[in-house]
Amino acid sequence: MDLDVLFLGTAGAVPTARRAPAATLVRRGGERILIDCAEGTQRQLLRSTAGLADIDLVLLTHFHADHVLGLPGMLKTFALRDRETPLRIAGPSGLHGLMAVFGRIVGRLPYPVELVEMEPGQALQIEDGRIDAFATSHDLASLGYALAENIRPGRFDVEAARRAGVPDGPLFGMLQHGQDVTLAGGSTVRSADVVGSPRPGRRVVFTGDTRPCAATGEAAAAADLLVHEATFLEEDAERAAATGHSTAAQAARLAAEAQVTLLALTHLSTRYTGRQVRDEGTAVFERTVVPRDFDIIEVPLAERGAPRLVRSDRAVAQTPAVEGA
Ligand SMILES: [Zn+2]
Ligand SMILES: [Zn+2]
Repeated sequence: MDLDVLFLGTAGAVPTARRAPAATLVRRGGERILIDCAEGTQRQLLRSTAGLADIDLVLLTHFHADHVLGLPGMLKTFALRDRETPLRIAGPSGLHGLMAVFGRIVGRLPYPVELVEMEPGQALQIEDGRIDAFATSHDLASLGYALAENIRPGRFDVEAARRAGVPDGPLFGMLQHGQDVTLAGGSTVRSADVVGSPRPGRRVVFTGDTRPCAATGEAAAAADLLVHEATFLEEDAERAAATGHSTAAQAARLAAEAQVTLLALTHLSTRYTGRQVRDEGTAVFERTVVPRDFDIIEVPLAERGAPRLVRSDRAVAQTPAVEGA
């Protein structure tokens, strides 16, 4: 199953001409999961390679304006497009109150909306995996999210099975599912002899706005990708702590300790350039990238390589998708 992360908005609270405020889309097989939905997220989607794809699930990290103001407009657009498929929206406590306010703006929606107020430690089921909410530290109810795929069965060694005399067909399936089989001649072939050890699923972690915190380190342990905010540089560390944010160096130290494969820094302040943020990050943890809007990080299965940043030049050059009315 393909898995990638499309960065729709990489700015902090104040957008710039090049960077929109917070929104990130996870595409996993046919699943579309939007993390935060700042003002302008619909247009960012339309301008991206994704288009205004029907989102299945929206995960809100917290309810600051720069993370939620795009939601009413997007909900309304789905209504105007005659959406019928249900939409799940999850967020920290206070979600029902927020959606009551938005409800007055958007009116009745023709599709079912399921609201899930989550506590740290709670999980949402997704296909072959789950999304765990963890506590972050941002001076109001806030959550980070870890998308964790189920452990996959080990690789089935077809040749070894054939050499052991197993005929192609249902017996192959039984061996793959962990069952030992008895052949026509009476001999037994053990599943463990032809199936490798179980392989971990992928793990991708999103912090939202937060100070560096232990819960993030725990959630991000050995993750393929950690998307961590970096609103400040180390020279403004005091300000970062006071406002519930992190510096690039702090995020990088956390990524190094958690031994993540790739760290992506986002939620950039207008105070600094992307290059400054990247330089501070890579000085601590080499595998740090600072995506721009519309950049994509592909996260292949571990045996197919490491996650990699794909710059957006091509994506942006494409004609913006024009869809629906
Ligand atoms: Zn923010
Ligand atoms: Zn915030």
